Amino acid sequence: MDKCRFQIDPFYQGARFLTAATKVEQSPPDTGREVAFAGRSNAGKSSAVNAICHQRRLARTSKTPGRTQQLIFFALDESRRLVDLPGYGYAAVKESIKRQWQGLVGGYLERRRSLAGVVVVMDIRHPLTAFDLRMLEWGRRSNLEMLLLLTKSDKLKRGASLTELHRVRKSVSAESARIQVELFSAPMRGGIEPVQRLLDRWLGIRD
Ligand code: GDP
Repeated sequence: MDKCRFQIDPFYQGARFLTAATKVEQSPPDTGREVAFAGRSNAGKSSAVNAICHQRRLARTSKTPGRTQQLIFFALDESRRLVDLPGYGYAAVKESIKRQWQGLVGGYLERRRSLAGVVVVMDIRHPLTAFDLRMLEWGRRSNLEMLLLLTKSDKLKRGASLTELHRVRKSVSAESARIQVELFSAPMRGGIEPVQRLLDRWLGIRD
């Protein structure tokens, strides 16, 4: 992927840490609109959030397995937010952590009325993991709009990225018209603008 020329979007660059919640009830008031980011550990979620907000350290990754799982809220303005949902990793993850994750993320997706859409970040080399399929299932159940972001697309040649993009699009298109799939690369700044324009729509700005 060629390094794309892009403009800094001051709206997303203005994202600021708001609060963290270990229970859905600790979330900020359920008003306005928000967009949540999900992804299996190491998929590239923090890098994607940082790239979209033109910041280096907004979303940080903790590699400690078993750390307290949190919903992390970032304010864009007084009524719009981004939310970093906890992920989890490979088979080594304890059953208790998976259950905790399920309660927190599942409860949030089911109950959060201000949630306008969910971005699921997937490593283009390992898309549609069990984690991702669970997110898709929850999104479908809550009738949410979803964007599947195939990140680390710089790791594949252009042709191979496009083949993967079409393969994933085909496999989810049968499920729902409310699911979009796009390529992304944090270091190459590839795909940032289309994501921002979709988020604009979900968040109800500039429409
Ligand atoms: P998270 O656990 O999902 O938040 O993942 P991180 O954002 O911490 O990324 C995990 C690893 O993948 C880090 O070493 C990142 O530098 C790397 N990474 C993330 N996004 C990209 C990308 O688009 N391209 C490449 N080449 N590496 C990436």
